[in-house]
Amino acid sequence: MIYRSFDIEKIRAEFPILNREVNGQPLVYFDNAATSQTPTPVIDSIVDYYSRYNANIHRGVHTLSQEATDAYEQARKKIQLHFNAAKSHEIILTSGTTHSINIVASGYANLLKKGDELLVSAMEHHSNIVPWQMLCKKTGAVLKVIPMTEKGILKMDVFSSMLNEKTKLVFVNHVSNALGTVNPVTEIIRRSHEVGAKVLIDGAQASPHIKADVQELNVDFYVTSAHKLCGPTGVGMLYGKETILNELPPYQGGGEMIAEVTFEKTTYAGLPHKFEAGTPNIAGGIAFGAALDYMNGIGFDTIAAYENELLVYGTQQLRMIEGVTIYGEAEEKTAVISFNVNGIHPYDVGSILDKMGIAVRTGHHCAQPIMDFYQIPGTIRASFSFYNTKEEIDRMITALKRAILMLQ
Ligand SMILES: *Cc1c(COP(=O)(O)O)cnc(C)c1O
Repeated sequence: MIYRSFDIEKIRAEFPILNREVNGQPLVYFDNAATSQTPTPVIDSIVDYYSRYNANIHRGVHTLSQEATDAYEQARKKIQLHFNAAKSHEIILTSGTTHSINIVASGYANLLKKGDELLVSAMEHHSNIVPWQMLCKKTGAVLKVIPMTEKGILKMDVFSSMLNEKTKLVFVNHVSNALGTVNPVTEIIRRSHEVGAKVLIDGAQASPHIKADVQELNVDFYVTSAHKLCGPTGVGMLYGKETILNELPPYQGGGEMIAEVTFEKTTYAGLPHKFEAGTPNIAGGIAFGAALDYMNGIGFDTIAAYENELLVYGTQQLRMIEGVTIYGEAEEKTAVISFNVNGIHPYDVGSILDKMGIAVRTGHHCAQPIMDFYQIPGTIRASFSFYNTKEEIDRMITALKRAILMLQ
């Protein structure tokens, strides 16, 4: 073990699910890009909330409500500090990345005009494509695609040539969930700002591996989901610069988001409440904070270095198998390997691996345009986390060889 501070056995012991068996075999969980597993301290934070201080927030004078409000707002503070936002009210707690992107996309409905241009990258998740298509339909703005190379790298020179004074918004993922490519977001943000465009970075796939600093990036919007980084499902964040969030209208109407309501007129609350209508996922928000504490306790540099070892090892092992094609060969990648085996449908491989207790994802990974680009129906995707091991990769390789023998 290279990283002395990294005790893999201790870490694995903190994930109860890793003890279970699937189809009579110890579970190998390689579907981390879809959702990560949850460590005991995060599970405990949810149990603790419902066992000791479950109450609605922001409105009650009673003790439980105050304790719940404090814990929820403390979580917001933790998220702020983690992403280095200048102000805690720039962190909007949402149900996840999809919700966050929809808040921004619907907010621009009255701020765009016919002929405005929006740029999206060729390697986006559907949740960073469809809300913008809906926005274009409403406004007459035009969606343009930043192309990528065969290796899954954005063509930055083409991107530069696409930018002009009509470009209003640019949205790109920090890391592609289907290919693992780490995009040059600093440069994308800088060049977009030169023509006055605002930038939204989808950080859902980056957040488990890279600690983003929104002020250093100078990004306008940054979004992520807690369930990709050891937190629960159904909670995430929208970071936005205060001045820009203030310009956007609320997304939903309801309780929590108002200052004053009469039947004639309603005035809205300030940030962050303007975008947080209704009772939120309180336990989820608190657990999001606990998940960041947990991951920071290990350290993002340590996590990234260990996962990169797994990526290099897994890639080497897969390349030695005849007929395997890997999609996504950027220099800078997170621990995601998308691949296919010549002549075999990805679904069939995934099913056989599951019989052997190994969870990989097969299909288009909510990124059909990428599959169209490579002219394939889908891929097999193995995505690693810091609680995975090389021994587990060996098990996948052995199982894959058996699957190939069975299917060819
Ligand atoms: C997972 C993921 C999403 C969607 O996240 P939800 O939690 O389903 O809203 C969007 N973009 C990327 C890059 C993702 O990996």
